[in-house]
Amino acid sequence: MDFHALSGMRDYIGAPSEDLRTVINIASDLFQSAGFREIETPIMEDARLFDRSLGSASDIVSKEMYTVEQSGDRIIALRPENTAGVVRAVNQHSLMANRNQLKLFYAGSMFRHERPQSGRYRQFHQVGVEVFGRSDPVIDAEIVHLGAEFLERCGLNDVVCLVNSIGNLEEREQYKKELVGALDPYREELSDDDRRRLEENPLRVLDSKDETCQQICEDHAPSIRDYLGNETRQHFESVLEYLDDLGVTYELDDTLVRGLDYYSRTTFELVSEDLGAQDALCGGGRYDGLSEVLGGDPCPAIGFAAGLERIMMLRDRFESEDLDTSVDCYLVPFDEESHRELLSLLPELRTIQHPQQQRSVSVELGDPGDSLRSQLRRANRYRSAVTLLLGSDERENNEISLKRMDTGDQRTLDYPPAEKLFDQIKGTLLDVDPEEIASAN
Ligand code: AMP
Repeated sequence: MDFHALSGMRDYIGAPSEDLRTVINIASDLFQSAGFREIETPIMEDARLFDRSLGSASDIVSKEMYTVEQSGDRIIALRPENTAGVVRAVNQHSLMANRNQLKLFYAGSMFRHERPQSGRYRQFHQVGVEVFGRSDPVIDAEIVHLGAEFLERCGLNDVVCLVNSIGNLEEREQYKKELVGALDPYREELSDDDRRRLEENPLRVLDSKDETCQQICEDHAPSIRDYLGNETRQHFESVLEYLDDLGVTYELDDTLVRGLDYYSRTTFELVSEDLGAQDALCGGGRYDGLSEVLGGDPCPAIGFAAGLERIMMLRDRFESEDLDTSVDCYLVPFDEESHRELLSLLPELRTIQHPQQQRSVSVELGDPGDSLRSQLRRANRYRSAVTLLLGSDERENNEISLKRMDTGDQRTLDYPPAEKLFDQIKGTLLDVDPEEIASAN
């Protein structure tokens, strides 16, 4: 029997795996510079946590959660998103007890049993931020800007920022009634799915992908922003002014409702036209009532989550199968004795810091059973900047040879001690033009 990864789940091998880490590093670097601390919550939670927070009528809870029944009727779920888990942790550990604000970020896998397609997976990765204790509109604008800045640092241009306000609970309830009333005459023209949404979760009808439904909404749905009270309206206007101050270009989108029960007031999404149907890269908004819903004290909050698979697709590394390794320094032993000598040098060489990059120098040891020619060919295939060559003559004279691969220059150094050799390796790495090595191959 052949085993395959489950549908909608995939292996990340070489370049995609490394890119995933790179993107997470970009996020954590940026989020830390904005004052966020990291949080890691369990991948599984009590399923009721999601039921209460996302809403039992949401698509995620009603049909997309992976759940496991445990003894005693307890149902646990693989997390479909991380905001609920973070709020649970904030409440459980009373993290807001002596604070005015708390800023947390996370990175990790989420699980949703959706129909797989390009950009939509059943296991996918998100990074996200959550700010607790702040209701002022400046933070809304800062969070939108942070999401946009993150995508920019990932190298994505052409990102469009959509913003909306969906009001507080009362304003939204009023709007829902009006919406259902306005769309009722067209009920028969809607798909079964949209009819169900209109009954169970009417706001969701606004972001239906069905074209007939979209047209009906465009022609007949009232705008949610016409139902905002004075306070919410002023808050939203200030958010937009602060976005201008921060240089974020945005489009107002009154169909952006985000479908989960916990959102209130500001909602936003960052989308890319290069992605096709699954165009959202990052989505978020306020969830001022969630802490209370989950049994905690009232606490205004706002955050976003960004999907890393879609970001990696746009960075062009996602489908790469390039598994070739490159090393900075290749060690060429001419005989068995030199091989052992170089082997004992290997761990120390790998502690040298690369002079230009935030990592250790990479080193690979050749095989004395291979000819000098084939060892050097391999060094070239690894795109090594420098090789160290050791044979019986060098050993007798307490020397080692260092060859610079782009120019072919070779020099002999005293060895041991090793310090001078290490400096020479660093110096060569600083000097070598990687283009030259590539063309020498
Ligand atoms: P959400 O938690 O639904 O607001 O999603 C936030 C971001 O996560 C989206 O903008 C997507 O980039 C990403 N995302 C959501 N669902 C999936 C999925 N099934 N596969 C891949 N990425 C996803």
